[in-house]
Amino acid sequence: METLAWMQAKLPEFLKDLEAFVRRESPSKDLKGLMEAAAFLEEAFGPLQGRLSRKDTPLGPILLLKREGEGAPVLVLCHYDTVHPRGSFPEPFRVERDRAVGPGVYDMKGGIVALLYALRHAEATGRKLPPLEILFTPDEEIGSKESRPLIEAAARKARAVLVLEPPTAEGDLKVARKGVGLYRLKALGKAAHQGVEPEKGVNAILELAHQIVRVAALEDREKGTTLGPNVVAGGTVSNVVAEEAWVEIDLRAWTLEEVKRVEEGLKSLTPILPGARLELSGGLNRPPMEPTAESLALFEKARTIGEALGLSLRPGRVGGGSDGNFTAALGVPTLDGLGLFGGDAHQKTEYVVVSEIPRRTALLAELLYAL
Ligand SMILES: [Zn+2]
Repeated sequence: METLAWMQAKLPEFLKDLEAFVRRESPSKDLKGLMEAAAFLEEAFGPLQGRLSRKDTPLGPILLLKREGEGAPVLVLCHYDTVHPRGSFPEPFRVERDRAVGPGVYDMKGGIVALLYALRHAEATGRKLPPLEILFTPDEEIGSKESRPLIEAAARKARAVLVLEPPTAEGDLKVARKGVGLYRLKALGKAAHQGVEPEKGVNAILELAHQIVRVAALEDREKGTTLGPNVVAGGTVSNVVAEEAWVEIDLRAWTLEEVKRVEEGLKSLTPILPGARLELSGGLNRPPMEPTAESLALFEKARTIGEALGLSLRPGRVGGGSDGNFTAALGVPTLDGLGLFGGDAHQKTEYVVVSEIPRRTALLAELLYAL
C-alpha cells in the first residue's frame, strides 16, 4: 500500500518529532511542562490546514484544530498529559533495538505524532479528509475535569469519534471500556472513653467493618463488575471509641445497568450497630463505553483497512476508562485504541515498537480517508 510505503520513508523524521515531543515532559498538573508540550503541538500542527485555537485552563491549555468540510465532523481525541512525574525515566527518550522508550511515548504522545503524519500524508498526496475537530487535552489522566464539557459539546455534533489511546497489549482496537465510579462510605458513631464508659460509645470502625463486607458482596465477577474497598481510615487514638471511619470504593462495570444495580445497593445499606449512621458520597467518574451497532460498524471499517496492511485487529474490551467513555455514553459511535503499538503503559518502561509505527500510522490515515 502506497500510504504504508510513505509512512515507512518518513519513519526517521517521525522518530525525531516523537523524541522532541516526549522530551517535553508533561505530567498532569505540571503547568510549565504542559505549556511546553502545548507549544510543540502548536509548532507541529499550526502549519497544517485548518484553524488552531487555544483555551487556557487551570489544568493546562486545551487546543482545538478545526478543519472545515461538508457534513458533520469526525472528532479526534488526544490527551498530552502523562502519569509520570518529571524525571521518572533515566533518560526522557531512548531507542533500544526495536523499542522507543519514554514518558508518555505510548500513552499517548505516540498516537498524537501518528495523527500528525496522517495529516501530513493527506496534504502531501492531496487525498480528501472528512471535516475534522481535533482536541488536545491536558487532564485526561486525572479525570478530564476541564476538558469534559468541550469533549461532550464537540461529540454531540460529530458523526464519529476516534480516540488515539494505544491499542490493547495484543494490538487490538478498543470498542468497550468499563465505567469507573469512585464512592466514599462514611460511618458515624459516638466517641467515649474506652476504659471508663465504653458502653456509651458507638464504634464507627466496627460499623464500617460490617458494611465493607456488604459492599464487597455487591460484586458480580461473572458480569465483570468489581468493587474495590481500597482505602480505609478512621478513629483518633486507641483509648477513644472511634467516632468516624470511612472507606473509598472503586467500582468498575461494563454496563450502566450494573452501575445502577451497585449504586442502589450502596444507597440501601443501613447501619447495623444501634446509634450508628452512614453517609454515602461520590459517583460515576466515567460511564461505561458500551459497543453499539454503529461503533462496531466503525470498528469493521478499521478492521478491513488493517487487513490490507497485514494487521488482524479484533474488537478489544478493557477495564480502564478514557475520554471515549464520555462520547460513547452520548450515543456517538466511538472507536478507541488507534494509537501506536507498544506496552508497559503507566510504567517506567513504557515503550512503542518502532517497526510497527508505519502500519499503525497508515491505518489511522486510511481510516480518516474512509470516513
Ligand atoms: Zn491515555
